[in-house]
Amino acid sequence: MSVVLLTNDDGVHAEGLAALGRALAELGDVYIVAPEREQSACGHALTLHRPIRPVQLGERRFAVNGTPSDCVNLAVLGFLPAPPVLVVSGVNHGTNLGDDVTYSGTVSAAMEGTLLGVPSIAVSLVDGGDFDAAARIARLLALRVLVVGLPRKTLLNVNVPASAPRGIRLTRLGHRVYSGKIIEQVDPRGRSHYWIGGGDPKWEDLEDTDMAAVHEGYVSVTPLHLDLTNHRALMELNDWPAGLSAQLRGETGRAPGPAPKAAARRGSQQRKPRSG
Ligand code: MN
Repeated sequence: MSVVLLTNDDGVHAEGLAALGRALAELGDVYIVAPEREQSACGHALTLHRPIRPVQLGERRFAVNGTPSDCVNLAVLGFLPAPPVLVVSGVNHGTNLGDDVTYSGTVSAAMEGTLLGVPSIAVSLVDGGDFDAAARIARLLALRVLVVGLPRKTLLNVNVPASAPRGIRLTRLGHRVYSGKIIEQVDPRGRSHYWIGGGDPKWEDLEDTDMAAVHEGYVSVTPLHLDLTNHRALMELNDWPAGLSAQLRGETGRAPGPAPKAAARRGSQQRKPRSG
């Protein structure tokens, strides 16, 4: 049977992961490789400066002293008996909508799977929702992905409403309105400290976004693309390099002439990947 990998960012003991395990049990040899403790909002971090030690908790269940992306990296690149045919991350306790996907450990695990060439799905549930219901939706989508695959470098970000869903909508990411508030407090020794990420999240009120779909009681399915290049900006900024190169030559006092392209390229290739 094919290997299916489940992970999350709420930790290996989270209820949402257990629900996912039950719902997807018959899709293949289902392995759980998940962080030993909660890693929410850790983003796409990889642990490069200490060893990763999986601890076996069950027949196909492992706790890892690392991030969700560590878990996927480990599992896909050789820890499991075979590379997974599918990665499902979740079911996250709380939504991962709009701009927030960039902070999300849940979504980042699916990004890692996608970057490693494995079709990947991230599933999140509105606070107070039913994990088993969300996991059944994950199963529907997983079956579809296993049959038809996903476009290149594309993952599915799925958010499930708390009440019984009215249906499934394909959406785009919504955008957060940042109110610019940090909370300043003073500690007993008179020093200021700050809380970030406080305050009520506000969102642009736009149709066809993930936020609107979940708000209206639909399951939101957003295809996310991992080519972060802004292709339109490549055109718009087209005239920058010539001017900037001339300025650079002026600053470095080098006589105007063609940029030493080959040398620059060699230099950048010597840099180690993922060094920072
Ligand atoms: Mn989480």
